[in-house]
Amino acid sequence: ASAHSPPSQPWLPNLTDLLKSCRLQNNYSPLKIVRASYQYMYDDTNLEYLDCVNSVAHVGHCHPAVVKAASVSMESAVTSCGWEIDYGDLQYPKELHQFLPTCLNTFLFCNSGSEAVDLALQLSRLYTNGTDAIVVDNAFHGSIDSVHQLSPKVFKCNNIIQPDWVHTVAMPDLYRGPYQEDDPLAVEKYIADARDMIDKARHYGRKIACFIAEPMLTVPGCIIPPNTWLQGMYRMVREFGGLCIADEVQTSLGRVGSHFWSFQAQGVTPDILIIGKSVGNGYPMASVVTSREVAALLGERIKEYQCTKMMNAVGCAVLEVLQQEHLMGSASVVGSVLKDELLKLQQKHEYIGQVRGKGLMFGIEIVWSKQSKKPSKEIADHIVFEMKKEYVIMANEGNSRNILLLMPPMCFTQENALLLVKRLDKVLSAIPSKRFSRSSNIAPSAPVGICEGRLGTFQPQEDDDDDGTSSMRDTVDLECAQHSYQDLD
Ligand code: PMP
Repeated sequence: ASAHSPPSQPWLPNLTDLLKSCRLQNNYSPLKIVRASYQYMYDDTNLEYLDCVNSVAHVGHCHPAVVKAASVSMESAVTSCGWEIDYGDLQYPKELHQFLPTCLNTFLFCNSGSEAVDLALQLSRLYTNGTDAIVVDNAFHGSIDSVHQLSPKVFKCNNIIQPDWVHTVAMPDLYRGPYQEDDPLAVEKYIADARDMIDKARHYGRKIACFIAEPMLTVPGCIIPPNTWLQGMYRMVREFGGLCIADEVQTSLGRVGSHFWSFQAQGVTPDILIIGKSVGNGYPMASVVTSREVAALLGERIKEYQCTKMMNAVGCAVLEVLQQEHLMGSASVVGSVLKDELLKLQQKHEYIGQVRGKGLMFGIEIVWSKQSKKPSKEIADHIVFEMKKEYVIMANEGNSRNILLLMPPMCFTQENALLLVKRLDKVLSAIPSKRFSRSSNIAPSAPVGICEGRLGTFQPQEDDDDDGTSSMRDTVDLECAQHSYQDLD
């Protein structure tokens, strides 16, 4: 049957349609992962892969202490809210609060980061009587309607008009942004541009409710804002009467190595903090953490806010493991070894434009050449693909999908880091030194779900561009999207 013929049992979803509806990791050669343990994942033939991307398995895939907590909690009592049960709503906030500034003392639990962002937006509007939100370009904050509207990454790639209540400031990207490393006044200029934008909005009668940002911008490709940018933004937003929301769905619980929260590493304290993903080690739980004053509006002004949730026991287990296994300290040590080694690779390979990151969170800019800084999704795709053949799972992110993002589980070791760099060096060294074209060397069709042979291969090609750099027009085209579904029916 062809991929497009109707399924023989029409009540079952067609696998092709299923795959189209979600973005597959490594979609031109998907892996069937059947189990995972700590920083390793295993496919259906029992091959072991080193996981460098699943930050959600924060303390390690299927960590026994976390699995036990989930299982005990499911076996003992599953209730909706309103009961004081072991590990209920009381113990987890008490334990988490030890890691927080005292002013962030009220917890509103929900099931996903998206819900938490939506609630934070509602609270900021209630508290300020404002309507509008300031967001950072290319940010992503979740997948429900209100939150999609706060996510430039979503409205840009879907050609949706930016809502009038959302105002986008430039990413403080000193590598590619409008103001770069060589400009000593770059931070001031980013903030001045943001101020102009807010002034204009206010001139048209808009009122700012909040500024929402990841303190370190993982989604756009791990951009670490320069010192003082976030401080300057928070100061200015508060001057205009808005609240500052830190989205720490990806960056919390010691991920940055030096601090428990990435807002601490940036020298700010948010009015509202959003946590999710890693706090449950993959189990659905999230929270808005704020002051009593802000949270009180929920009871006063929004009656009947409800959310059924029950994974707080898991949250407690994650915190326990983090401390017992000293994972934040480990992220700092392993991260600094990894950074040194990646910087050496950057010196050696023309295709690495920049390495940035902190703790266990890195972005590697893949470019056609250091001089041109032209993003190369094609080479990034190729690297991710080849690394998978080396049993290392990586991902590429960012606006141009040219940034290799490393966010492994926190139990990632120094040996893992050295292995990753060794294999990355091997893959980069095997890329021909001149520019590329896609050859017609396409292998016959692959088995269901695996289309390895369909990848275009890299071939050196004479360089005829004046500037000595490659152009997108004649570079490799891996045609991932088209090929990935063809053999699936
Ligand atoms: N904020 C950020 C920064 C995220 O990366 C995500 C999810 N990728 C969310 C919020 C939404 O979290 P969830 O998927 O749990 O709704």
